[in-house]
Amino acid sequence: MTALQDAPVSTTRRDDRAHVFHSWSAQAQIDPMPIERADGSYFWDENGKRYLDFSSQLVNVNIGYQHPRLVAAIAEQAAKLCTVAPGFANDARSTAARMIAEVAPGDLDKVFFTNGGAEANENAVRMARLHTGRHKVLAAYRSYHGATAGAIALTGDPRRWASEPGLPGIVRYWGPYPYRSAFHAVDEQQEGERALAHLRSTLEVEGPHTVAAIILETVVGTNGVLVPPPGYLAGVRALCDEFGIVLIADEVMSGFGRCGEWFAVDRWGVTPDLITFAKGVNSGYVPLGGVVISAAIAATFADRPFPGGLTYSGHPLACASAVASMQVFHDEDIPGRARRLGAEVIGPELRALQERHPSIGEVRGLGAMWAIELVRNRETREPLVPFNASGPAAAPMAGVVAACKERGLWPFVHFNRLHVVPPCTTTADEIREGVAVLDAALEGADRYCAP
Ligand code: PLP
Repeated sequence: MTALQDAPVSTTRRDDRAHVFHSWSAQAQIDPMPIERADGSYFWDENGKRYLDFSSQLVNVNIGYQHPRLVAAIAEQAAKLCTVAPGFANDARSTAARMIAEVAPGDLDKVFFTNGGAEANENAVRMARLHTGRHKVLAAYRSYHGATAGAIALTGDPRRWASEPGLPGIVRYWGPYPYRSAFHAVDEQQEGERALAHLRSTLEVEGPHTVAAIILETVVGTNGVLVPPPGYLAGVRALCDEFGIVLIADEVMSGFGRCGEWFAVDRWGVTPDLITFAKGVNSGYVPLGGVVISAAIAATFADRPFPGGLTYSGHPLACASAVASMQVFHDEDIPGRARRLGAEVIGPELRALQERHPSIGEVRGLGAMWAIELVRNRETREPLVPFNASGPAAAPMAGVVAACKERGLWPFVHFNRLHVVPPCTTTADEIREGVAVLDAALEGADRYCAP
């Protein structure tokens, strides 16, 4: 490569290092990789190296990169009307809201648009508090709800610590996690029952009449791909009904095909009062999120103003891309594709890996949302790296990540877990290509295992 050809790339990197302040990072310790282009399930770096994306960026590129129908819809909307304030009606926004309401469960029929997931959760909590006239919110340990002030206060993982003290009135509870049960449960069924008993007693001691909402990730995402045991979500719904509490399902990661359904709650036939979404709704082509609202909560604000808003609520470029995305979801049966991909390819392939690698303690997931939990010892389940490990303590995971990237696979890693969260449109052959890389990379993790 000549110096001239090299110049624009070096400028990207140099300007990034000089002027871009990145999320969640010690700025002097990072060197973000410039991405040049992407297509389908792959992206390419500045040197033309191709990566198969097993992370869907931040688990948001559900229909893959550069889908021509979304690209065209954004261009078409840009040519017609780039921006309009939320107080006006707009065809892209109206259509996106109708299409989302059409696939939402029960009587969730209205959509409040935001720019992303955190704002969606902020506004869902605001709605729940005003609707009930109560102030407390129950939020789970091992959860992530976003990084704005309220959403980070809801979050039940170490990302919250630096922002404490946060919003008052948040009470935490343990959700089900059969592999590492907080309730000493021996199986999934018992885990679900005990988690529900724990939630009930938490409500009792808090005073259920003071609780506005219970928020949960339908399938817990970053904190472990924790699929609720049968009956758990229905049990939470029943508790909310008993005490007049609003159930908020955070489907920012689990919604829009990721779990093989429109919304993950559909798998268990449970209807929350509010669903928050973002990410997969338009695969992040333009920032978009929102809250889908039940008839009863919408009615609270029929003759009383909703005290919340955003300059870009229902932005036409974002909504036009959501409309195209919804059409793609229907025409290409994205939820069905993800469901089959999980059941027929990802699940079986990862379980076969588990046979070969002593470092794999558990494989779990559904649709295009899977986790491989890495351990040093299958008997004791000691994690490959400690909770929240960084620096040298995290080296065994860093080794696996480096081995994946070297072989052209972009993994998603959290603590001692590898998450397999590719675009829902990834083909069976692409999954096998990525699993072959994991197979090689996991040899590094096996070396830490007890003989
Ligand atoms: N909720 C969940 C379950 C998420 O996974 C995320 C992001 O990862 C958020 C909320 C926050 O979304 P955003 O980053 O768009 O604010």
